[in-house]
Amino acid sequence: MRQPLVMGNWKLNGTKASVEALVKALVEPAAKAEGVEVAVCPPVIFLGLVEKLTEGTRIQYGAQNADVHTAGAFTGENSPVMLKEFGCKYALVGHSERRTLHAETDAVVAAKYEAIQQNGLVPVLCIGETLAQFEANETKAVVETQLKAVIDHSGIDSFANAVIAYEPVWAIGTGKTATPEIAQSVHAHIRAYLAGFSADVAAKVQILYGGSVTGATAAELFGQADIDGGLVGGASLKPEDFAQIIAGAKQ
Ligand code: PEP
Repeated sequence: MRQPLVMGNWKLNGTKASVEALVKALVEPAAKAEGVEVAVCPPVIFLGLVEKLTEGTRIQYGAQNADVHTAGAFTGENSPVMLKEFGCKYALVGHSERRTLHAETDAVVAAKYEAIQQNGLVPVLCIGETLAQFEANETKAVVETQLKAVIDHSGIDSFANAVIAYEPVWAIGTGKTATPEIAQSVHAHIRAYLAGFSADVAAKVQILYGGSVTGATAAELFGQADIDGGLVGGASLKPEDFAQIIAGAKQ
């Protein structure tokens, strides 16, 4: 049985006051969602604050990005060692905004995935196709290529300690959610593809759906056989919506 996981990606949003209000508002919904893991990924500058605010709660947290290096002359970066010191459990890697806006290739994503994992964090590997690729019926080939880059680099067994987030790029921040049927068919394909390398790892790995999930769409999406929760952007900044999404993961 895979534990459902609902993770908020706050992207480049927040102030000290709004972070405090948001975390405080999530304490009770997280406490009530027995069996569901709840996590948030704030901008790194708020990690110290989130560390304090989440103490003694059921809320876990992670970073939205990590550098491939652990230390050195890399101005502006944050190392996985630092993220670990600030209590992060997770780090996103390969988010489509990093792939497109920061030119992160599959090779860079694979190297970061390894650095995150080797330094004691759980990588949340984001994969997914663009609208053009979706329309050209290339979804399955795209996710396979993105997964293969990591499998080649770190091995299939690395997924025993990782999370996958399937996020169709055309659904991120657009208000267009993949239908539960489309999402389930891609999730099932991802699991079947991984099973070709290890049936055991494939059966156990959590595969989250991401892309305009809201309180209204969460329960049906998360009710699909191969969808183990969600990675949530916009709606994770709205406490009531995010609480409904968390509740939707409690099947
Ligand atoms: C995301 O950025 O990971 C995401 C899924 O965003 P949104 O929920 O806003 O589409």
